[in-house]
Amino acid sequence: MSGQRKFFVGGNWKMNGDKASIDGIVSFMKGPLSPNTEVVVGCPQCYLMYTRQNMPDNVGVAAQNCYKSAKGAFTGEISPGMIKDLGCEWVILGHSERRHVFNEPDQLISEKVGHALESGMKVIPCIGEKLDEREGNRTEEVVFAQMKALLPNISDWSRVVIAYEPVWAIGTGKTATPDQAQEVHAKLRQWLRKNVNDQVADSTRIIYGGSVSPSNCEELAKKGDIDGFLVGGASLKPDFVKIINARG
Ligand code: PGA
Repeated sequence: MSGQRKFFVGGNWKMNGDKASIDGIVSFMKGPLSPNTEVVVGCPQCYLMYTRQNMPDNVGVAAQNCYKSAKGAFTGEISPGMIKDLGCEWVILGHSERRHVFNEPDQLISEKVGHALESGMKVIPCIGEKLDEREGNRTEEVVFAQMKALLPNISDWSRVVIAYEPVWAIGTGKTATPDQAQEVHAKLRQWLRKNVNDQVADSTRIIYGGSVSPSNCEELAKKGDIDGFLVGGASLKPDFVKIINARG
């Protein structure tokens, strides 16, 4: 069934970079990139316009967050409409750093996803368990609860790419093994089959994030339920292209 899901690789620059380093990323993003991979880079909000203007057209640009309203008295926030106004179509929401550094709860993330979709954006909601939750055999419980919170606000699954990112693997150099990641992805797909429908389960991309690198991407990409990656640190380096091309 993975044949109907286009391989998807997102870069998450987090709070890194400046115009000079973005120029460097733009040069290596000229590729060549596999036409079989959909590629998106998530840049700091203040560089969205610069990145969109300079990045090749075959690379989408994502914000790393946005608010759940169109406008108003929300100092420091940006709306999906503003992101679209800059020519960017994508937003990453509920990243583990938003959840755990900035204490964003499931409900808020779900409302943000809902509003971004209603505004016509494409969304990458992130989910994943912490180390103590994995060690306590609670991975499924945690990721299913995160999915359940998202569900009421997802009006159009064709504009959603789910990123499964175990928190213990993010920025640590400790990747989930291909089997560990595949196991969770398969369970998430079963969850979609049971709680949404077969069409959504078969067509929704579920991508893996957490220390994806040029050396582990090919093995991970061979797994049937891993439809791509969300890449942090390695997306800032020229080898990101190898990750984009991991499935050929
Ligand atoms: P990492 O980050 O690849 O640096 O582990 C992934 C992410 O946070 O999306």
